[in-house]
Amino acid sequence: MTSTHDDDFAEIRTSVRALCARFPGSYWRELDRERRYPQAFVDALTEAGMLAVLIPEQYGGSGLGLAAAAAILEEVHKAGCNGAACHAQMYTMGTLLKHGNAQQKDRYLPEIAAGRLRLQAFGVTEPTAGTDTTAIKTTARRDGDRYVINGQKVWTSRAEHSDLMLLLARTTARDQTAKRTEGLSVFLVDLRESVGKGLTIRPIRTMMNHATTELFFDELSVPAANLIGEEGKGFRYIIDGMNAERILIASECIGDARWFIAAATAYAKQRVVFARPIGQNQGIQFPIAKAYAGSEAAALMVREAARRFDAGEPCGPQANMAKLLAADAAWAAADMCIQTHGGFGFAEEFDVERKFRETRLYQVAPVSTNLILAYLAEHVLELPRSY
Ligand SMILES: Cc1cc2nc3c(=O)[nH]c(=O)nc-3n(C[C@H](O)[C@H](O)[C@H](O)COP(=O)(O)OP(=O)(O)OC[C@H]3O[C@@H](n4cnc5c(N)ncnc54)[C@H](O)[C@@H]3O)c2cc1C
Repeated sequence: MTSTHDDDFAEIRTSVRALCARFPGSYWRELDRERRYPQAFVDALTEAGMLAVLIPEQYGGSGLGLAAAAAILEEVHKAGCNGAACHAQMYTMGTLLKHGNAQQKDRYLPEIAAGRLRLQAFGVTEPTAGTDTTAIKTTARRDGDRYVINGQKVWTSRAEHSDLMLLLARTTARDQTAKRTEGLSVFLVDLRESVGKGLTIRPIRTMMNHATTELFFDELSVPAANLIGEEGKGFRYIIDGMNAERILIASECIGDARWFIAAATAYAKQRVVFARPIGQNQGIQFPIAKAYAGSEAAALMVREAARRFDAGEPCGPQANMAKLLAADAAWAAADMCIQTHGGFGFAEEFDVERKFRETRLYQVAPVSTNLILAYLAEHVLELPRSY
């Protein structure tokens, strides 16, 4: 199956494909059954330097940019693997890179680039605030040269498999700030020092193998030196990192869509019913062709968003549209793929049902479809704010 930009980063794509071939469906099925973390796969990507492509060379990364990172994650998903176990190791450090001080960057970035430190957890979402991030209730109270954290986070993915975590907390009460986006701060929390000393992590079992958790903070003490940027400006820092995250997750969705289309096409060619391959019927062909057209169109938006990001151009609308269109394309392709497989779409050994469950997430996280539509309506089309 050809696609519109297979030639971008051809060498990187070939290396990723070779690496992923060592982790076939049987590997993922076994982990999925027991909801275990794909440590061997993450180690392989780390050793190959794939998770350090966004870190500048001066800190030991390859500084290749977002389009290269997108190509890696797309290939991972196209191969039937799942980047969710470690994709955040690529981009969470962006907040530190952009807003951290020289000392913080010199201390952490080379270790992250070398894979010796994992910074792949970020705690933003809370149970009562949901999408309304400025309503979070977790607080950080200054106490001499430390901050004391109290509150709760939910859906903090990979917290059990990360050394460090970016945490958003309120340092000034919402009713004491001029704007609700003020008074929030970002901290780098060393999870190794925190668990059992004011931080409790509880895993949440989900419909797919995602290593997500909820966190409880009870007087957790964090050095003031771990504040990123200025106190009270954390909301902007988190927003800054969102475009990269959305573009990278969109590229995973493109990979998923391509996996579903390839699987459906192969099955439609070989499955014979009524003495003909099912793929000879237009009722089977057309949904596959439609999914293909949709995923190729979405891929162009992902590519444009990544190009703008790497060029330092504004890319908010493109990053959001890329995430929306790619998640929709992946979900449409998933539905088509199950239908093409008939009953076998539900059988574990075909991997279709696993990928179907995995790709469903991206209608909701890291930002839900509705919130992207609301963003486009308000910020691009200048319609009145709806919430
Ligand atoms: C598996 C998983 C992993 C995650 N990992 C992380 C992580 O690592 N770190 C982290 O901080 N968060 C993480 N999240 C949280 C994720 O970002 C949120 O689930 C997502 O942003 C939606 O928030 P919510 O679940 O609170 O939904 P809610 O805000 O409660 O919304 C529920 C529904 O209502 C809709 N809705 C809400 N308000 C409006 C409105 N004004 N207009 C129209 N529709 C609206 C939403 O679109 C959604 O469909 C993860 C979530 C999941 C499920």
